[in-house]
Amino acid sequence: MNAENQLQFAVERCPDPTPADQIATRLVNPAFGRVFTDHMVTIRWTEGRGWHDAKVEARRPFQIDPACAVLHYAQEIFEGMKAYRGDDGKISLFRPQENAKRFRASAARMSMADLPETIFLRAVEALVDIDRDWIPGGDGSLYLRPFMFASESFLGVRAAAEYIFCVIACPVGPYFKAGKSAVTVWVSEQYTRAAPGGTGAAKCGGNYAASLIAQTEAAAKGCDQVVFLDAAEHRWIEELGGMNVFFVMDDGTLRTPPLKGTILPGITRASIIELARHEGMTVNEVAYDFESWRADAASGRLKETFACGTAAVVTAIGQVRHAGGEFTIGHGGEGQVTQRLRSLLTGMQRGKIADPFAWVHHVA
Ligand SMILES: *Cc1c(COP(=O)(O)O)cnc(C)c1O
Repeated sequence: MNAENQLQFAVERCPDPTPADQIATRLVNPAFGRVFTDHMVTIRWTEGRGWHDAKVEARRPFQIDPACAVLHYAQEIFEGMKAYRGDDGKISLFRPQENAKRFRASAARMSMADLPETIFLRAVEALVDIDRDWIPGGDGSLYLRPFMFASESFLGVRAAAEYIFCVIACPVGPYFKAGKSAVTVWVSEQYTRAAPGGTGAAKCGGNYAASLIAQTEAAAKGCDQVVFLDAAEHRWIEELGGMNVFFVMDDGTLRTPPLKGTILPGITRASIIELARHEGMTVNEVAYDFESWRADAASGRLKETFACGTAAVVTAIGQVRHAGGEFTIGHGGEGQVTQRLRSLLTGMQRGKIADPFAWVHHVA
């Protein structure tokens, strides 16, 4: 007997689905995270009973008690992934097993219920299947947001005994404004995102809650994103609020901060490392400090810097602002290596070029 395979998804189609012409209108330049599909998937977990009540149903609000644990102690984790429509009409996901694995790792760190990878995948595929008309073609994609929260009504401080897992989806276009070839970042020297022993490697809402003040500061300085430094010395570059970071040196090598528990292990990061090595480049997972970054940008030892993550894929960083001033990376636009890696990765994700790693997962 295998509980994972026994769980059946009850399908209750949305009684008033969005008409095709309205879907078409909403797929034109959707603002990131504001347009949602008609359905959602929910699965419940209760101590002693495990995962049950799996449903594909019309998207609707949750009813939760004011004492719902997540509202008080923030036991919440999530994933971010995309479904693509190829030119041949085929629907695919990119390395979804990696999201399923990371979801389990995040749950373990946050003392939450363990969701088997097969159930995670089946839930995501069920939503993609029922809402497949919402997947844009071209440069767009369907952003999928699996998440889990503590749903028990109890104010005691301990891991909750009830959880809800849910998947929702929104059609998206490019994350940053079209036509923008590089972003400007703000280096936060005051606020940090994650400390050793903390939750930096878990994809949990709490990490974002802690990072928003720096993001607000960045926006006030006219920047698109924040670069966080390490919590102990405020010296080593860790990552952006929701993206990992790579540096391209003048000897052609790439470097990216190593995973030591305070950085989110990005699937895009891992893919870029493998892809770049496959292309014959050397990638070093080594610490890089803010002062060197600034000096190397000035001397020309550093050629390019880019951020990467599912939402924004690969995005060049052109300008860096900090409390003491500002500096430009390369010529301030997208560099050659960044451009090459971005087109290789997006080409693979969209089925336009060969996928020697078997990363693309077709949805039947
Ligand atoms: C999700 C996320 C990333 C990027 O991870 P991908 O798997 O590449 O999308 C990077 N940093 C943080 C803090 C994140 O939450």
